[in-house]
Amino acid sequence: MRLSNSESEAGQLRRITPGGVSSPVRAFKPFPLVIDSGQGCRITDIDGNDYVDLCMAYGPLIVGHSCPRVAKAVRDQTKKGSVFGAPSHPETKLLEKITSTVPSAEMCRMAVSGTEATMHAVRLARGYTKKNGIVKLNGGFHGAHNTVLVAAGSGSVNGTPSSLGVPEDDVRNTYLVEYNDAGMFESLLDRNEDIAGIIMEPVMGNVGVVTPKKGYLAEMRKITKEHGALLIFDEVITGFRLSAGSAQGRFGVTPDLTTMGKIIGGGYPAGAFMGKREIMEMVAPNGPVYAAGTFAGNPVSAAAGLETIDIMAEKGRYDSLEKKTQTLVARMRDALEDSGVRGCIQSIASMFSIYFGVDEVTNGSDAQKADRDMFAEMFDYMLHHGVYLPPGPMEVEFMSAAHDEEACEKIAKTFEGFLKQVK
Ligand code: PLP
Repeated sequence: MRLSNSESEAGQLRRITPGGVSSPVRAFKPFPLVIDSGQGCRITDIDGNDYVDLCMAYGPLIVGHSCPRVAKAVRDQTKKGSVFGAPSHPETKLLEKITSTVPSAEMCRMAVSGTEATMHAVRLARGYTKKNGIVKLNGGFHGAHNTVLVAAGSGSVNGTPSSLGVPEDDVRNTYLVEYNDAGMFESLLDRNEDIAGIIMEPVMGNVGVVTPKKGYLAEMRKITKEHGALLIFDEVITGFRLSAGSAQGRFGVTPDLTTMGKIIGGGYPAGAFMGKREIMEMVAPNGPVYAAGTFAGNPVSAAAGLETIDIMAEKGRYDSLEKKTQTLVARMRDALEDSGVRGCIQSIASMFSIYFGVDEVTNGSDAQKADRDMFAEMFDYMLHHGVYLPPGPMEVEFMSAAHDEEACEKIAKTFEGFLKQVK
């Protein structure tokens, strides 16, 4: 496989941007590929090599790369203008869609990224409750702002605090609990009266895919209510992916606040935070909690997000995507078992993750025990055989409506090929 164009451009990038990437998870050795184009479930690098894509830009592209309907919605909007600094029709329609579909969303405010959405939601929770403490999950990632940069998911090294430059004071009020352990959370709330709320992914997606044990989310809802703390679901990944009603619709647990990003921008930058009217009314200009942004509610992103959500709302779309994913996952699980290589594949809806060296992952601590070297070997093998995975073992493999049978066959065959040559 010729990769000389990528190698040379990656070298150029390393000289002019840290690590040669605009976001750290994109870096891998010996050099990241430079991508030229994407169509459906496939991408092509600048050397002309094609790959079946399982990274899918880390989640926004649930209808695939360059979906013709989304591309048309974007073209139509860009002809009218790209940003106005004023309300626009696509923004209204997207807000209508979100507030009529997402159970917790009585009101919603747009932002530009998932990071912004969670930053605003955390501020709002503190402003509303007049408390300072924020609880997060060990391994939970909520973007790149100070409060949540503690033991934060795939970007952290061995789950330790995630960045220099975060003043200790900024994380003094950030508390950690483990996923799937409601008792640990409850005892923290019993001991500390200054907790504004917990921000958590209902299904963890930044230590690979980790699903809730039966009753766990309902228990978290009950505990937060009893203690006057807010439950914030970070659905930046799971929003409009786990179902039309997102994870909260699928599990029937309604949080006080929800954050989203990724899919609601249909491949363009977007974020949003939403929740109970009484809480959301505290956001500026109505209330004293500040949130703002030049590009917030951008009409091009809104048009793309709306079209994406509309496509997925068509009858049978979520079911067939889930069925296709689960068929592939079942085959890969069989191959893993037959090979005798220790590991597990965890999955829900159209997301899955492959862990080596462990039998089950139920929280962020378990995920840290997975064999990173073996994952790196698999990543390399898959890449050189035409399947592009996210480079880290703590990421999610994303399927899309555009993944066809041929692509699924290629993924399964390549995975089987990898397992066969493991010594
Ligand atoms: N929250 C979760 C759960 C995420 O997975 C991410 C990004 O992957 C974010 C927040 C941050 O979103 P963004 O990268 O759009 O800032």
